[in-house]
Amino acid sequence: MSQEEDKSRHKKRMQQQKAKVDERIAAAQQDKGLLLVLTGNGKGKSTSGFGTITRAVGHGLHAKVVQYVKGGWECGERDLLEKNGVEFHVMGTGFTWETQDKETDIKAAQAAWSYSKTLLQDPSVDVILLDEITYMITYKYIDLDEVIAALTARPKDQHVVITGRACHRAIIEIADTVSEVRPVKHAFDKGIKAQKGIDW
Ligand code: ATP
Ligand code: MG
Repeated sequence: MSQEEDKSRHKKRMQQQKAKVDERIAAAQQDKGLLLVLTGNGKGKSTSGFGTITRAVGHGLHAKVVQYVKGGWECGERDLLEKNGVEFHVMGTGFTWETQDKETDIKAAQAAWSYSKTLLQDPSVDVILLDEITYMITYKYIDLDEVIAALTARPKDQHVVITGRACHRAIIEIADTVSEVRPVKHAFDKGIKAQKGIDW
């Protein structure tokens, strides 16, 4: 095949691809608040959730964050986003295996959930990040049916991002967009410490 033929074939293929994409874009007409789930065992769930909050804030949307596990754990996004008007509720008991006090953990989880429910009823909140909430459901610190009910009844244009490993299939079923992050490799496995600005 001559170079000219190759060029012309490539152009034709690209045109066909563009036509297909344009058709799909034109067919997507609905506007709605989305439920996004970022799950799986690989690194990148919370950073993606915070990235979405940053994107939303960049467009002037009103965003809130509820962090379900971390507390004793610093997080770089919090300082930046709070300076930009994003309110955080941090569960604040640290990791379960650090506190080793189930009753305290349950109370803290339920307080965080109670606050999350008020957000899920407030149409002035455009985007909510429920970071690491999946663990609270797995441990049964908060009730799955209540979570499903609150997510389903939320204001129609409100977006919610859920992060955490092993997301319950019932939440995956009602979600609009679900991504599973798969670990291919992680620096920690080679004995490298969590790095500021990358891991927290
Ligand atoms: P990140 O906050 O970096 O996006 P994540 O939310 O996907 O990570 P978590 O399970 O919440 O993952 O864990 C947070 C911390 O654990 C981060 O410091 C992250 O680098 C680390 N981590 C995530 N996945 C792995 C893994 N597969 N092996 C070892 N450490 C991990
Ligand atoms: Mg995380």
